[in-house]
Amino acid sequence: MSEMIYRPVGKTGMSASVVGLGGEHLDGKPFETADEVIGAAMDRGVNIMDLFMPGDTVRSNIGRALRGKRDKMLIQGHICSTDINEQYDRSRDRKSIQKYFESLLRCLDTDYIDFGMLFFIDSEKDYTDVFEGAALEYALELKQKGVIRAIGASSHNPLIAKRVVESDVVELLMFSINPAFDMAPAEINVLDYLDEKMIDYEKNMDPDRAALYRLCEQKDVAVTVMKTLGAGKLLSPRYTPFAEPLTVPQCIHYALTRPAVVSVLLGCSSREEVLEALRYLDADEAEKDYSAVIDKYQGVFKGSCVYCNHCLPCPVEINIAEVNKFADIAEASLERRSPERRSQSAGIPPGVRTHYKALGKHGSDCISCGSCETRCPFSVPVIKNMKKAAELFGC
Ligand code: SF4
Ligand code: SF4
Repeated sequence: MSEMIYRPVGKTGMSASVVGLGGEHLDGKPFETADEVIGAAMDRGVNIMDLFMPGDTVRSNIGRALRGKRDKMLIQGHICSTDINEQYDRSRDRKSIQKYFESLLRCLDTDYIDFGMLFFIDSEKDYTDVFEGAALEYALELKQKGVIRAIGASSHNPLIAKRVVESDVVELLMFSINPAFDMAPAEINVLDYLDEKMIDYEKNMDPDRAALYRLCEQKDVAVTVMKTLGAGKLLSPRYTPFAEPLTVPQCIHYALTRPAVVSVLLGCSSREEVLEALRYLDADEAEKDYSAVIDKYQGVFKGSCVYCNHCLPCPVEINIAEVNKFADIAEASLERRSPERRSQSAGIPPGVRTHYKALGKHGSDCISCGSCETRCPFSVPVIKNMKKAAELFGC
């Protein structure tokens, strides 16, 4: 079995496994299930999990399953997650959020949470309530006392998430990412589509989502992913919006090839489901290649790189997806600058420049053979893009 892959979580100094656990499917299950799932995941190197559920029982089961190995698991614990009025509820009231966060620490039998996640910021009201209210104040206090190691936030709305990232307070964003959601216009609530057939669209890839991922990369804010499989609907012939269902490795690979993404967090309720998710690590490039499914939407993606690397091999071993990704991010950074300063590539965030330079081969190594362009299902002008990358980064 292949080794786990780890990615740095932005500027936090922590590194997370590319496949992690969502805790939701452990809710309502006995301790033995939590123990089996967490044990199977950690045996294969999983070191990050999300825990937003407010109930004491599921929190205690997870705490018990982590006994003796708490320090080997990075926990995303949510601030503002309560069950005051319904099963999963939000509160922005200091007394309630403190009560539920302290119960999280107690149930897990720990004195710290790695990522204190400001929970469910999807609307303007959520943003104002959290960022101008007690929740942020509480998170900052927890960070200052060392009770949380980093502040994060969760959202499903790219426009609000962008504001969250622009606040320069959060170091981690949990966001819903899959190929169907990425084509949904920012103003719709993607969660509505989990109750019926998924989005059926003839629209363009949503620019607000693409801009959000690039902003995160520019600001070195890491992204962890929820809804990677669209609640399983992308795997279903009946519910998928594509001509055919995607597979688990394809969905995981799609999310992991978005800028700034460090880890996909998958809800599992058995050892088998954990192993199915971790099969991603053993999948070869052909198995992970999602372009075979989404290229039915060539019109949607035409000319835009989706970072799938279907165009490889390159004779000079350029990682074309990565070069395109960093060039896109750099270009987006420059677009945010005034017209007279756009030509100054000094405006590219240093982290993006460093990541680009760390690639083994660069845009300037392209010999314009054109073989990638014949293989790209999305008609991306790769040669032109390589030249653009070379100009932007100077190599
Ligand atoms: S150039 Fe085309 S095939 Fe290559 S990574 Fe981009 S979209 Fe995929
Ligand atoms: S055109 Fe450039 S990037 Fe594409 S395969 Fe040839 S050398 Fe590689």
